[in-house]
Order: sequence, then C-alpha cells, then structure tokens
Amino acid sequence: MPVKNCGIKSFLGAGLVIAITLCGVLAARVVVAASSPWQEEKSEHFIIAYQHVPESFVKDVIEAAEDHYRQTMTTLGFTRYTGWTWKNRVKIVIHDSQSAYVKASHYAWSAGQVSPDTKEIVTFPSESGFFDSLLPHELGHIIFREGVGFHDNIPLWLEEGVAMYQERARRLGADADVRDLIAQGYFIPLEDLDRITLRSGTSRATVQIFYTEAASLVGFLINKYEVYRFVRLCRELKEGQRFDVALNKAYMEFPNLSALERSWRRYLDETRE
Ligand SMILES: [Zn+2]
Repeated sequence: MPVKNCGIKSFLGAGLVIAITLCGVLAARVVVAASSPWQEEKSEHFIIAYQHVPESFVKDVIEAAEDHYRQTMTTLGFTRYTGWTWKNRVKIVIHDSQSAYVKASHYAWSAGQVSPDTKEIVTFPSESGFFDSLLPHELGHIIFREGVGFHDNIPLWLEEGVAMYQERARRLGADADVRDLIAQGYFIPLEDLDRITLRSGTSRATVQIFYTEAASLVGFLINKYEVYRFVRLCRELKEGQRFDVALNKAYMEFPNLSALERSWRRYLDETRE
C-alpha cells in the first residue's frame, strides 16, 4: 500500500480555501529505536508509548482518543448493528518532537502515520490540529479497517472519506465546499474520483478536491440513510464483495457510480441553506 498524503492547507483557484489534515497510511509498522527509554500508559482501548512528553499531555491524549473512539463507533453504526468486538488495543506512539518523529519515520511531510493492520498511530505533539484533526482522522482509518477488513475492494475515496468525516470541522464544511467546487467548475465526477491514485506527482489542487468530495460523499451515505445501510456496506466489503455490488446490496438504489453521484448532488441541492 503506498503512503497516502492526506493533503495540506492551501489556496485553490478563485479564492476557495479548503483545509485538510496531513496524514500517512502505512502498510508497514514504524520501528521505534530499541535503545530509547519508552514508557507506556494504558486505557481501555489504547496504549500510549512516550518518552519525555509531559504526563498531562499523555492523559489528554488518552481522554481524547477514548472519546473519538466512542464517537466514531457510533457514527459508523458499528456498535449498534454488528456483534462487533474490539480486539487488541490501538498503540499511539508519541515522539518528543517533529525532528525525533522524522528521524524515526523518514516522513518529513506528515504530522502522523497510521498502520491499520497493526493498529498503530505514530505522531508527535504539534501546535495545531493534533486533537481535532490528526487523532480522529487516523483513528477513523483504524476503526474503519477493523470493520471492513483488508481486501483490496475499498475505494480510496471511501477509506479517506470515512477518516475525514471523523474530523468534526471537515464534516461540517465539506458539503458547502463541494457546492463551491461545483459552482466554480472544479468538481471531479465520481467515476474520475474513483480512479484517482494519490502519488507524489498528484497536484495539490486535485488532492484537496479529492479529500473534500470524499468527506462530503461519505457524509451523504451516512446522513441521508439509516446507518444500518452503511454497516451493511461494510459487512459486504468485509466478505470480499466488489464495491459496486456491495453498494447496491446495501442501499438498493445505486446500480452504478453515476446513480450515486446524481443522488449525492441532489442531496447537496436539497440541503443548501
Ligand atoms: Zn488519511
């Protein structure tokens, strides 16, 4: 799985501003230097590994992580509609500083990385966005993958959209941003969005549009319909079903991506304030 850059803050054409978190999804576990004196603090669902960051910060991380865990499980319907059990705690490795993080991870462009298969988040205390963006976003990746498994049938827009949707501010702003994209001619049709692979050469504007549309579309799938449909979609995907088949089985009104896009855009028109 390639590293995915979850984007950065910047201006898009015509004055449209879309702010997006930085994150990386890794297939491989990030190795922590064995010689470092790491301490651990445990809670019901988390293990926090740290060296010299203040204990008060560690306690704040635990409190926020448990809170985001409960919210994400509820939002995705996992606690309500599945006999879902959480296996093993999530490990959050907090380096002392950005330089220590970069030295260990070799990813200078991101503020954190997540490995859903090993349930590990690696990060460092950053001056902004740590509790509101990075933590819910990366945790969203882990919880979602716990729900849908690790087949290669998950569209990238769905995976990143679910993670973006856990960031409350992004969730609230995504629909308005997509309406602006449509009005200004920047909207990427869903069939094209579905084919996008984010690589180092992908333009910043495309990355930003991708994440914004993904967050709005996931919000549509969750908010417009009873949440059991999203749970059914996840269950079908976990069983290895192709995405288009799983979508149609769960929602029963989207035979293809074009039909999904039409309903999504109609919803954006109807919910315009
Ligand atoms: Zn992400």
